[in-house]
Amino acid sequence: MEQLLNLIDGEQRPAIGGGWLDVYEPAKGQVYAQLPDSDERDVEAAVDAAHRAFPAWNALGREGRSAAILRLAQAIEDDMEGFVRDESRDNGKPLSLARRVDIPRAVSNFRFFATAILHFPSEAHLMDDVAVNYTDRQPIGVVGAISPWNLPLYLFTWKIAPALAAGNCVVAKPSEVTPLTAYRMGTLCKAAGIPPGVLNIVHGLGPKVGAAITAHPRIPAISFTGGTRTGAEIARVAAPLFKKLSLELGGKNPVLVFADCDFEDMLKTTVRSSFTNQGQICLCGSRILVERSIYTRFRDAFVERVKALTVGDPERGTSDLGAVVSKDHMEKVLAYIDLARTEGGTVLTGGTRVLLDGALKDGWYIAPTVIEGLGPQCRTNQEEIFGPVVTLQPFDDEAEALALANATPYGLASVVWTTDLKRTHRVARALQAGIVWVNCWMVRDLRTPFGGMKQSGVGREGGVEALRFFTEAKNICIKL
Ligand code: NDP
Repeated sequence: MEQLLNLIDGEQRPAIGGGWLDVYEPAKGQVYAQLPDSDERDVEAAVDAAHRAFPAWNALGREGRSAAILRLAQAIEDDMEGFVRDESRDNGKPLSLARRVDIPRAVSNFRFFATAILHFPSEAHLMDDVAVNYTDRQPIGVVGAISPWNLPLYLFTWKIAPALAAGNCVVAKPSEVTPLTAYRMGTLCKAAGIPPGVLNIVHGLGPKVGAAITAHPRIPAISFTGGTRTGAEIARVAAPLFKKLSLELGGKNPVLVFADCDFEDMLKTTVRSSFTNQGQICLCGSRILVERSIYTRFRDAFVERVKALTVGDPERGTSDLGAVVSKDHMEKVLAYIDLARTEGGTVLTGGTRVLLDGALKDGWYIAPTVIEGLGPQCRTNQEEIFGPVVTLQPFDDEAEALALANATPYGLASVVWTTDLKRTHRVARALQAGIVWVNCWMVRDLRTPFGGMKQSGVGREGGVEALRFFTEAKNICIKL
């Protein structure tokens, strides 16, 4: 059985403690590899290596770092099919999705930030004849990156790329549930010319490795993507240490469907925004709010489309949905569907585990599920389910649509379907969300600020925001 290794100081190493954890293939429900069960000793070794590597990496300058990062991007692209297969196998997502989205986007993350750093400006402020100020943005030093399992390499690189480009060295922990592509990427670093210690990847459990990174006094900044509860724990530990924190957390995203929308475009995209990656994208719309005059038409057409989706072997091109990421997660999602029933909801389609045949008989599959008849305050409409489950709620006017949309503690993304220009502006501005898509979903420009309001996060990543996060701004004031 394959044993994955940590990348510390440029070397592939097992955990110092010698322990291993199982890695599961969700499509089959079986163990197929092992990862190091690392702890604070491995994190300490990674931090030491990162601090040793920092002066030379920083001194390499923007162009030197950019060239090294671009070589790593190229190495991933050259091995595209290997990464695609690993990502699908590790996560359960359709191979076609990993090929279309996850791995190309990981390559883009590196290319984007490797070139963005070349154009990262500093500001100057002139005070008439008094003084000139300029902003010097220097790398922080050693930073921590902790990422989740839903878009494993995509989100891992979303943090590592700007951190490295800005001149930092990184101690990174991918999710223990999906470590494979981070490991694969680690094996390419040496040949790509990333110096030892610049990028360290420590595998293992969140409460051990993640907690050790969070608490480490020589890691002054942490970029975290994951659940809101974990984010709160990280903030609790990091705040008294005065760490810089970027928290990208959970969501309960509304989709607002007005009667004047382009119905066909909306329908097609809403199926995607509900069930892509088995609904396990923080940006998926999970509460669909529909203007009452088209509610029945929408419900019937939507349910018909959802019933036509195929849940199946992730390797097959015909599968729209693959497996959910773990047995625990499958049980959590199914428990939420039971809760919805208890709360008085009607399951219009789905609502059950899907059992496949042969080698896939023990895999963790859930039918795409649509629920109606629940009010905005019930737990089903308040808590993040993070699976292939959506609810439908009708509304009578714009004010009610906004009240429903904003009625959760989350504020990550939202989608608005309308052809009324004035309404577009009004609604987009009133939505409590860091990201508003109008007549589209998951259209991503890497230059835009990305992040959530309320309990969906603190801070923004993306473009210049990420480069600012990973640098310290210093104002230098010179008397004229
Ligand atoms: P978790 O919060 O469970 O885990 C995220 C990462 O944190 C994992 O690497 C995990 O380790 C680690 N971790 C767990 N406990 C601790 C701890 N005490 N200290 C430090 N690190 C810890 O999230 P999931 O992996 O379950 O991911 C799903 C969540 O991520 C959803 O809530 C989703 O909305 C959110 N998300 C948010 C996005 C955004 O941009 N806002 C994007 C994508 C997902 P391990 O799992 O290895 O034990």
